[in-house]
This record gives sequence, structure tokens and C-alpha cells, in this order.
Amino acid sequence: MIQFKTLAEKYDTPLYVYDFNIITENFNNLKNAFKARKSMLCYAVKANSNLSVLKHLASLGSGCDCVSIGEVNRALLAGVDRYKIIYSGVGKRDVEIKEALERDILMINLESEEEMYRVEQIAKDLNVTARISIRVNPNIDPKTHPYISTGLHESKFGVDLESAKKMYLYAHKSSALNPIGIHFHIGSQITETSPFKEASVIIADLLRSLKAINIDIKFFDIGGGIGIKYKDETPILLYDYAQAIFESLKGTDVTVLCEPGRYLVGNSGYLLTKVLYEKKNDKKRFVIIDAAMNDLIRPSLYGAYHDFELLDTSDEATSLVDIVGPICETGDFLAKDVLLPPVKHDDVIVFKSAGAYGFTMSSNYNSRPRVAEVALIDGEDRMIRARESFDDLIKLERDFL
Ligand SMILES: *Cc1c(COP(=O)(O)O)cnc(C)c1O
Repeated sequence: MIQFKTLAEKYDTPLYVYDFNIITENFNNLKNAFKARKSMLCYAVKANSNLSVLKHLASLGSGCDCVSIGEVNRALLAGVDRYKIIYSGVGKRDVEIKEALERDILMINLESEEEMYRVEQIAKDLNVTARISIRVNPNIDPKTHPYISTGLHESKFGVDLESAKKMYLYAHKSSALNPIGIHFHIGSQITETSPFKEASVIIADLLRSLKAINIDIKFFDIGGGIGIKYKDETPILLYDYAQAIFESLKGTDVTVLCEPGRYLVGNSGYLLTKVLYEKKNDKKRFVIIDAAMNDLIRPSLYGAYHDFELLDTSDEATSLVDIVGPICETGDFLAKDVLLPPVKHDDVIVFKSAGAYGFTMSSNYNSRPRVAEVALIDGEDRMIRARESFDDLIKLERDFL
């Protein structure tokens, strides 16, 4: 049992807490599911990019999937092997491409034809060969929230099958490009195996047709998107998931590369908050807490549900309430129409499954300093990011009057 109350007193609230032992367990479970083939796990840094989280995952043998040069540099700083780092994203700038090539990471994941020509030119200028993969859009509906669906034709990500094939042919002939990977990522928080399976079959077909013309793809990158339990979801069985992928790859010798973000860190994290006030009108009851949408935006952004626990209460008489933050937006809530017993000032409420897309999506809106982050390792707590101060908020601003 985690001593949330003690942690809330020691570090103050709001506070993110991550249990690193859970991250280890998740990593090992997924690695195990893939053990029948050569595989590589590249953690999607955007889910939680704290250097200590990355360092911990690096120590387990994880690689990293990055979507900016900042994330690439974080991964390298945390000690992730450069040949386990991949760089994706629809809008890489020239300087980012240049830096990625200089860092000599495993591969750059291309998301458009134009980007391929830029990477080729920059590689030529640097006199290097760029190892690349291409993000192919299989046009599969992942049956998740539209904002986190990424593999349909109307999405901005990747290229369609025909364009991908042309790009591979071009890259194969180019002296500055070396196509070694094929990639798809159809969305996030996916709780069914079938979309993964359908996508994998389509992309594996393309893989075979590339192999048939001697384009030697080494990495079959299946993206991330494995859903977790927030409320009453039934997550996919990792074994079934891996088997579905393996089946589509029969007769090939590629390394399966998986890019889990949420799955590795989501359920390791908690957001600790304290009650400030309670107020009622004739229609509604509100509990106002010290955390807000700037700290955890998922409920406001996606209508996402985070399970929570009110500590130290024995009162069973609950009533409907919105748990809201202090920000000046009606959309600022962490839970809506949920049941809660009476609360008092300084009661601690813990929001669960907040390890992924929590802190990394947080902001300074309303001039609120971003909160501290604490790691639990074998029950011992350690601060891994200090709470921001007022000085941190203004330190880059210049007086121009
Ligand atoms: C966001 C993202 C991931 C991770 O997604 P999760 O749902 O957190 O597993 C993996 N790959 C790419 C390319 C992404 O954009």
C-alpha cells in the first residue's frame, strides 16, 4: 500500500507519484509476450518524458520512440542506446533532421514524400546515409477516441500504401537513404486485438512485396496504442496481441518493434491532490481541489475518466459531485457527476492511472507552476522533478517597456 498521505505531506500537493516497480512489471510482461521472435521495445517518450523514467526504462533494455529532437536528446541523456532510438513525427524541421542524423540514431521514420527528399538532401550535405522507415497508413479504425485515432485516411499521419511503395523504391535507389524499417501506428488506448491484426496483415503484405524486390526491411514497427484499464475497460491480452502480429509475419525474419507509451507508464502514476473547498447550489455540488486541467488535461480534452480515491473517509453517504480545479474555464474538471461522501479542507484525493499523458501534457495556464514528480522504487520515495517556482515561470521573459 502506497503511503499517499505521507507523500502529500512531505512533498505538498498537487503531486505526481510514479511507482517504478509497476513500470518494470509492465515492461517485462510485454517483452515476455514477444519472446518467440526477435523484438525490441521502444518506449514512446511523449507519454512521460521525465529523465528518471527514461533512465529506468533504459536500464531494463528499452529503446525510445521520439517525436521531437528534444525527446531524442532526452533519451540519449538518459543513457538509451542510440541504435534503439527512432524519430517519428509529421513535421520535422531541417535542424531537427540534421541533429538526428548527427546523433546517428537507429532510424528516422518518414511521414511524407517531401520529408523523404529533405532527409535525403540533408544526409547528402552531411555525407552520411540516413537509415529510414516509412509510416504507412493502413486505413484501419482502431475503435478509440477520434482525437487519438491516427491510422485512417483522413488523419494527417503517415502515407498510403501506394505512396509508401513508391517511396521505398526511391529510397532503395538513393545513395543517401537506407530503408530498414516499415511502420504503422493506428491510434491510442486500443482495447481490441482485431484492429492491430488487420493493420499488421496489410503492412506485412507490403513488407513481403518489398522483400520480393530485394528491399531488405529489418524492422517491422507495429507502433504503440495498447490500451489500459482506466475504469471498466478490458485490456487486450498481450499474448494474443503478439500472436496476431507473429501470424501476419510468418515466413519473414524481421525484428518486431513495438512502441508502447501508455501501457508501460499509465497505471504506474497517481496525481495527489487536496480538497480546498466544497460548494453547493440548488442544482449541483462541487468539490474544488488544488489540481486543475493544466496539471491533468485528459478529462477536459478527451472526456477521459480517471478513477480516484478519497483517503481517510469512513462516511458512506455519497452524493453526486463534480471535482473541479481552480482554473477560470468551465472545462476545468477532473471528474464529472461522480459519487463522493462529504469532504473537508485538506482531505487528499488520489487520481489513478495518471502516469501517461499527465505531466507531459501539463502547462502553466493561469500562471500555475507545474507540479513536482516523485518516484517510488521498492517502496522508497525520491523526488525526480522539483515543483516549479514563480521565478521559473518568468525567467525567460524580457522587460520590453
Ligand atoms: C503516441 C505514439 C505512440 C505511443 O502511443 P501509446 O498509445 O501511448 O502506446 C507510439 N508511436 C507513435 C508513433 C506515437 O505517435
